[in-house]
Amino acid sequence: MVLFLGTIRPSPLSNFARYRRQVSLKSSTIAVLSTGFPPLRRILQASLHSNSASEDAGLQLPADQSEIIFMGTGTSEGIPRVSCLTNPLKTCPVCSKAVEPGNKNRRLNTSILIRYPRASGRCNILIDAGKFFYQSALRWFPAFGIRNIDAVIITHSHADAIGGLDDLRDWTNNVQPCIPIYVAPRDFEVMKKTHYYLVDTSVIIPGAAVSELQFNIIHEEPPFVVHDLKFTPLPVWHGRGYRSLGFRFGNICYISDVSEIPEETYPLLKDCEILILDALRPDRSSSTHFGLPRALDEVRKIQPKRTLFTGMMHLMDHEKVNDYLSKRMEAEGLDVQLSYDGLRIPVVL
Ligand SMILES: [Zn+2]
Ligand SMILES: [Zn+2]
Repeated sequence: MVLFLGTIRPSPLSNFARYRRQVSLKSSTIAVLSTGFPPLRRILQASLHSNSASEDAGLQLPADQSEIIFMGTGTSEGIPRVSCLTNPLKTCPVCSKAVEPGNKNRRLNTSILIRYPRASGRCNILIDAGKFFYQSALRWFPAFGIRNIDAVIITHSHADAIGGLDDLRDWTNNVQPCIPIYVAPRDFEVMKKTHYYLVDTSVIIPGAAVSELQFNIIHEEPPFVVHDLKFTPLPVWHGRGYRSLGFRFGNICYISDVSEIPEETYPLLKDCEILILDALRPDRSSSTHFGLPRALDEVRKIQPKRTLFTGMMHLMDHEKVNDYLSKRMEAEGLDVQLSYDGLRIPVVL
């Protein structure tokens, strides 16, 4: 791993006061947790079957429990699509439902936050910060009591994965001195163009308060360690001739943007407990993403214990597709469901 540090400017906020606000706890939640921690599986099932995307918010897990929070589970343009809401000729069933507050069809750019305990407190690692990062953070950071961003790991350099790098300024100006970014060389080359002023801070006007990012170059191998957690890159194709990275951490595999898994990546997916996998549309794959039939075939091949699909477009109706997937469970024992924005799952890392 190569460390690249943009020109460092002295930060007036490097000795900021630590944020101490605690999230209010629901009394019913405290009662459950103080009388013994229910099995993780039961919590996950309760989340998956809740009616509203906001129901998990405010629920506090024990401080030593690791978890994944889905910051976004949708495509680049977001769901609902504005074009569907303004179409005078046709009503889009999914986008019109997605307008309702708390509806699970409401999806922003695909991203997860991994939280796990460390001696110095909870560590928050974000995978991707896309165009809608601000809206995702606005919705879920206060709700789940998330303050710091301890690192951002980048899957690839499309706008829905890196478009939010500029918004990290709110953290590096007001919460913490800087944020380490982990990025592959090809994607770093893209950032040099799309976010040139964040890579080379010598070009900005003195006093301008842009994100303070520290770039760490990662490669397809070997694995790398971020704040004591090992990440194994899972190289995949995301369209012809274009690579994206999935990541394995613990026994969890996250592959958000994929059209083909190369043979050499399959061994890295062995004994996977939770697979989080791209499934764009219900009927077929696109040139850059798995569709539902292909994603299910991959689940049969990889054989994870549990799978959550992500990256869904507006043709994927949360309830309808999940009903279909529940039948796959009955018919062939596949434990597969759609994720949704704000879904939080306890994990073992
Ligand atoms: Zn639509
Ligand atoms: Zn992409």
